[in-house]
Amino acid sequence: MNQDWNSRTKLVHGGIRRSQYNEMSEALFLTQGFVYDTAEQAEARFLKAGPDEFIYARYGNPTVAMFEERIAMLEGAEDAFACASGMAAVQGALMALVKAGDHVVASRALFGSCLFILENILPKFGVEVTLVDGANLEQWRAAVRSDTRLVFFESMSNPTLEVIDIEAVSEIAHRVGAVVVSDNVFSTPIYSNAISQGADIVTYSATKHIDGQGRVLGGVILGTREVIRGTIEPFMKHTGGALSPFNAWVLLKGLETMDLRVRAQTATALELARVLEGHPALSRVIYPGLPSHPQYELAQRQLGAGGTVLSFEIAGGRAAAFAFLNALKIATISNNLGDAKTIATPPAFTTHQRLPEDQKAALGITPGLIRLSCGLEDPADLIADMKQALEAAQACR
Ligand SMILES: *Cc1c(COP(=O)(O)O)cnc(C)c1O
Repeated sequence: MNQDWNSRTKLVHGGIRRSQYNEMSEALFLTQGFVYDTAEQAEARFLKAGPDEFIYARYGNPTVAMFEERIAMLEGAEDAFACASGMAAVQGALMALVKAGDHVVASRALFGSCLFILENILPKFGVEVTLVDGANLEQWRAAVRSDTRLVFFESMSNPTLEVIDIEAVSEIAHRVGAVVVSDNVFSTPIYSNAISQGADIVTYSATKHIDGQGRVLGGVILGTREVIRGTIEPFMKHTGGALSPFNAWVLLKGLETMDLRVRAQTATALELARVLEGHPALSRVIYPGLPSHPQYELAQRQLGAGGTVLSFEIAGGRAAAFAFLNALKIATISNNLGDAKTIATPPAFTTHQRLPEDQKAALGITPGLIRLSCGLEDPADLIADMKQALEAAQACR
């Protein structure tokens, strides 16, 4: 496989394993097991399986291997382990890399389930966790210690789109020998350069942009061959977080079109952010691709784009936000992101509902906040939809 290919070529041809039939489209090996020609072969395979030798689908499967190789090529990682969901990936990366007595530092602005692992699960096993304001490098510097084994952040946070300086935080972490794990969902695999910027491990929820059409759950952990095969794989294959071959096949086909989709969705997000900024029904528009974003320069340097999601705050709180959502005719009310369909989410009442009020306030998750994941509809139709729904929001103030 040619590592010199450009991204779009990798996304179409990377990782292909053709069967004896020379099929055009990648084969779906919907099998949990594999047959050995002889007892000796079974013995040899259990002793050491080669890269294209399979034993059991919880360990690996040819369709899953195609997905792993393709996404690893795109990310510029040596290897990847595919997981049942984004949370299986985050959980696997964290649990496999730390042990009792270790210290972990993480940014506070996180997806709810990531926060649950850090606040509720890791401490149960004797891991101490310190949470910091991820945009504040002073706080990272003050929090890392000689026993800090791992640093975790979402490189762009949900839902307030705060950008973490991967290079700077990695340098702080590496000074004490800590491993850097970046949950890169909001940055998207298209704009990510996290590994060359210093991250040791990158995780994705493949449920988001990689599928991109709202069909399946999946996740992936990317890193060096040594860490993926030496540390991550033993943990994942014995704890059962494997990606199903069927989902791997859906995700593999998703990768073929991901570049086109994510770039189109990002262009739409930028267009909507520009149109909505300053709208009288809104008190705030948050989009890292707008010069008004406090980390615009960092987002440009790190990603070269603002991503597929924007957030905005509707003046008038819950009533106005709900009037807006209920008036939408194209955008759907849901909680996924990266989908072909535009999705509007009120985080304070859905994904972040259980967060204590003071923490919501500290993170800027106000009652009027809407997270908008831009889809593949015509941007002019989306702009018209937003405008008419914002009128409904203004009418109820
Ligand atoms: C969605 C998401 C996850 C979890 O992914 P699942 O596939 O739903 O398990 C983790 N981190 C971030 C930032 C996400 O957006």
